[in-house]
Amino acid sequence: MSAMAKMTDRRRGRTQIVNLDQIMTDQQIKEEKWTLTTLSAAVNTKENCMLWLARRRLIKNSAYCTTCHQSAYLNAYAEGTDGFRWACRSCHFRRTIRDNSFFARSHIPIVHLLLLIYCWSHDMPIFNISHETKISTEYAMNYCNTCREECEKYIYRHRLSEIGGLGEDGEPIIVDINESKNFKRKYVTRESRWVFGGIERHSRKCFLVEIPNNTVASLTEAIKKHILPGTHIVSHRNSLCAYISDINNGTYSHSEVKMDNFTDPKYDVVHAINVEKMWMRAKRFLEKQFGTTTVQFSTCLNEFIFRNSIKKEHIFGTVLVAIAEDYVV
Ligand SMILES: [Zn+2]
Repeated sequence: MSAMAKMTDRRRGRTQIVNLDQIMTDQQIKEEKWTLTTLSAAVNTKENCMLWLARRRLIKNSAYCTTCHQSAYLNAYAEGTDGFRWACRSCHFRRTIRDNSFFARSHIPIVHLLLLIYCWSHDMPIFNISHETKISTEYAMNYCNTCREECEKYIYRHRLSEIGGLGEDGEPIIVDINESKNFKRKYVTRESRWVFGGIERHSRKCFLVEIPNNTVASLTEAIKKHILPGTHIVSHRNSLCAYISDINNGTYSHSEVKMDNFTDPKYDVVHAINVEKMWMRAKRFLEKQFGTTTVQFSTCLNEFIFRNSIKKEHIFGTVLVAIAEDYVV
């Protein structure tokens, strides 16, 4: 920028936080690599934090006066938590930079909330999240639940809990299904719940859903809802076999395996172990989340789907995208 342009810019003030070509795509946001140290350094001042958020569409990049409909100007506002705010020069219009954003309903400095999202993405215990972000445990728990809700909405928007169908080669995708009744809310009640799940071979996609019981009717309903037509379903229960081929006039093909049948050459032992591992992970995760918090069971199941479907190093970025999609600023 020339010296003259700089002077003009200073006199006129800014009507946008960053230039439009600096705004990032979903893919760029998802694939960024951060650590707690690099993130803290990137948002070390109120201005840097604001620039960081605007580039990722987490706050408005520009604002319009609601009275005269002209562009509002970005003013330094030292008295405010965020250091800046939008203002109209002709009217009395004033707006916080977090207007309409995910951060709008809180008065906590945005940098602390951002670090909370990062720590939650990495599945830190609530005590550590509270310590790293200087947010009280109770408030941190509430905000973590808000993060969970955003991920849940992301799952529905992107249909992450509908799996299988036909692959790019036109061949049926194989989905292993299983059900279990070992999920209990520890220390609170002895109730246990039926969970039905499926996992795609050769991908990370899976679904987990609570079912009222393990009758054929309940399982059939869950299969229709979560497994796309054309899928080859592999079940571990003989009694269900006969029914799967009947669903929707034979929309699924089907085979059955026994977990101790490792000598069968048709059987993919490595995959069987992966399926077992996913169930073990799900059980541990649900025992921890559902067993020790007040989070709803269905939300816990969806959090697991989210964490299991997305590469670990992309979770933070995907949570940011989930928020940006839900709060269009
Ligand atoms: Zn105005």
